[in-house]
Amino acid sequence: MRALRFDGAKPVFVTDAREPVLLPGDALIRPTCVGICSTDTEICRGTTNFVGTLGHEFVGIVEEVHLPAGSPATLTERAARLKGKRVVGAINLVCGKCDMCRAGLSTHCRHRTVLGVAGRDGCFADRFTLPVNNLTAVPDSVDDERATFAEPLASAIHAASMIKVEGKPYITVLGDGKLGLLTAQVMARLNASVRLLGKHPEKFGLCDRWGIKHRHVNEVGRLQDQDVVVDCTGSASGLALAMQLVRPRGKIILKSTISPLPIPPGAPVPGADHPAWKDPVNLAPIVINELELIGSRCGPIPEAVAMLEKNLVSVEQLITSRTKLENGLAALETAKKGQIKVLMTV
Ligand SMILES: [Zn+2]
Repeated sequence: MRALRFDGAKPVFVTDAREPVLLPGDALIRPTCVGICSTDTEICRGTTNFVGTLGHEFVGIVEEVHLPAGSPATLTERAARLKGKRVVGAINLVCGKCDMCRAGLSTHCRHRTVLGVAGRDGCFADRFTLPVNNLTAVPDSVDDERATFAEPLASAIHAASMIKVEGKPYITVLGDGKLGLLTAQVMARLNASVRLLGKHPEKFGLCDRWGIKHRHVNEVGRLQDQDVVVDCTGSASGLALAMQLVRPRGKIILKSTISPLPIPPGAPVPGADHPAWKDPVNLAPIVINELELIGSRCGPIPEAVAMLEKNLVSVEQLITSRTKLENGLAALETAKKGQIKVLMTV
């Protein structure tokens, strides 16, 4: 089986990857189109302790399901409905038993693994597995390329759901990468005044087409007048900038997993002379201006699929490069160079 993997030091393309093993409740999925995310390029920089097959953005076909005898009827019906169908999926694999799961917060399951990100081989391969319960069928009207955006779009929807919209608030989305451009589109559907701040004039043309206000990040005053700032920059400097833009008692929603220091869990924290400490973020404005700082990660896949089906967001214009899985090493390099979206057919 072919797979694009991270071996702990570098990404590698292999043709002898181990076939996935189906656990009870799992579906075997043959991906048809996959997307490269900045998380994948981050993993390839060695900033996490993940080793294995990369990838978590996919659309694929359910080839097989493994349900033990005595499975609940709802699961059996779901599996029967999805077999042979095109699906997308939630990427958190959860236990369903811990305190978080029982409280309805299964995305924070104490024992979770994450497809292609933590503890579980991902979708950049000929085949991979996910629990049937994670899957959502893709309507025929949503083609493979658009369906591949379900996961990042769900993340943008989740960010929007964290804002209480009262009296047309001013919202600034920081970052003109894929997540910033998706988030700005989702936010623009709220009763709010939304603008996107970026660094790449070539991406502003997309905002023009979508009717979303935009500015170059260096052209705006740091007036502390925004009700909400959503940081999709993927860098630690995004938080510092957000604190200069948001009004006192305003909200900052952080979508960037800021990790200036590549410290795997359990590893010693580098000493004070480590170069990665040279740009610390001053958190005093959070106290002085009584800011609300909200972290935001994965969102609801079914809602994302519904949005794609209703054509409420534009995603095809975010695709800047298309290639095949076997060219994955080159595709990862392309993705690193600031491409919005690199898709691979499998
Ligand atoms: Zn759990």
